[in-house]
Amino acid sequence: MTKNVIVVGGGFAGVEFVQRLSKKLSSRDVEIRLFEKEGDQTFRTEIHKFACERINLDAIKIPLKRILPSIVKLENAEVKKIDLKNKKVFTDKSYDYDFLIVAAGSDPNFFGIPGMKENALSFWTLEDAQRINNHVKKIFEDVKNIKDPDERQKMLTFIVGGGGFTGVELMGELMEWTDKLSKVNGVDRKSVKLMMVEALPRILPNIEKVDVVNKAIEYMKKYGVDVRTNSMITNVSADGLTLKSGEFIPTKTLIWSGGVQGCAFTNQLDLKKDKRERIIVNEYMETSDPNVYAIGDVASYVDKSNKPMPGLVESAMQSADVAANNIIVSIKGGEKQALDLKLHGNIVYVGKRYGVANIKSLGTFAGYRAIPMKHLVNMQHMFHVGGFGLVMKYLKDQVF
Ligand SMILES: Cc1cc2nc3c(=O)[nH]c(=O)nc-3n(C[C@H](O)[C@H](O)[C@H](O)COP(=O)(O)OP(=O)(O)OC[C@H]3O[C@@H](n4cnc5c(N)ncnc54)[C@H](O)[C@@H]3O)c2cc1C
Repeated sequence: MTKNVIVVGGGFAGVEFVQRLSKKLSSRDVEIRLFEKEGDQTFRTEIHKFACERINLDAIKIPLKRILPSIVKLENAEVKKIDLKNKKVFTDKSYDYDFLIVAAGSDPNFFGIPGMKENALSFWTLEDAQRINNHVKKIFEDVKNIKDPDERQKMLTFIVGGGGFTGVELMGELMEWTDKLSKVNGVDRKSVKLMMVEALPRILPNIEKVDVVNKAIEYMKKYGVDVRTNSMITNVSADGLTLKSGEFIPTKTLIWSGGVQGCAFTNQLDLKKDKRERIIVNEYMETSDPNVYAIGDVASYVDKSNKPMPGLVESAMQSADVAANNIIVSIKGGEKQALDLKLHGNIVYVGKRYGVANIKSLGTFAGYRAIPMKHLVNMQHMFHVGGFGLVMKYLKDQVF
């Protein structure tokens, strides 16, 4: 009998899952529906460039219709409710499932810091990127009419909270974009304050070598970025933020990239979760409900040596492959596959001309050569999901 497979989320994990499943199963075996509320796939790892106008919206959109296998029905809709007991998914309509795959990604984690959610600009989704773009441009326009020096300085202070790879990538763009915005709006660039505030003793914890991280900090300093570590934010208001030390920093712009947690939509699901609201899975990507799998950022997996699966594209892709394989096994028989995560490293942009790379086969380094490598990694991904056509689109959007 044909099984109904429903996938919630068309990000890295959701798309990889349906592509893998469709290779081994036909429409006689399964009916596959993929729900994506943003319509197309967001190439999330590049949204900082869109936020700061280095690339346009089209460049971070991967048309799902173009890359989904023909047996997958694309539903451009938000899943609002799931009834695990009766195996139903609800948008404005309802759909039955035999297997449900939750690939809904993550949401910003504000860690309960008073005022953070209300006053900071979060940085994770396409909407966030658009909001940051509008906000920063408006500040530069409005400041021209402000005479009071304290108010001007508050407006021209841009702070990124969180020094992980998303925060550093955003700061890399901001420092170059504020150069341009200053020129266009007749603002003295020296009066623009850029600051990165990190609670931990160091930034970029995913890059092992501290000396390489220090090179990135030196590079950011050339653009006037003040990187503050050991600086926990304890309160945020509409006019600034307070650090644990008691220091108050006046600003109209705090962009929060201090961490993520499981996607809020999964709160309603009566599945076992971890402290960060992510759905706990075993090595087969099975959840506490036998018909539900979780993959990618929304899944919480800890291996036998107690290593948690990090929120990365490689984790999303590999967990998706495991879930697809195990659903194929439950339909066709065979041996279940356990996740054996193989991470090859990552590359962090620090603006247009500089990057930090931590690659298993090549080591850790900082400099210009990280940039073409990042393009190669992105193009390899494009080829994997959409063939040569998507590689050409990438080259047009990002390189030429
Ligand atoms: C600026 C930035 C830079 C990054 N750089 C890197 C990097 O260099 N390397 C790296 O490995 N990782 C990087 N990441 C992290 C990486 O993007 C994530 O780990 C990855 O996107 C996780 O894939 P996913 O499929 O689980 O989630 P996502 O890609 O977030 O996809 C989830 C999808 O689910 C959809 N969705 C959610 N709820 C619903 C619903 N109720 N109904 C329908 N659809 C829904 C969302 O719209 C979304 O499209 C970066 C992230 C950011 C923001």
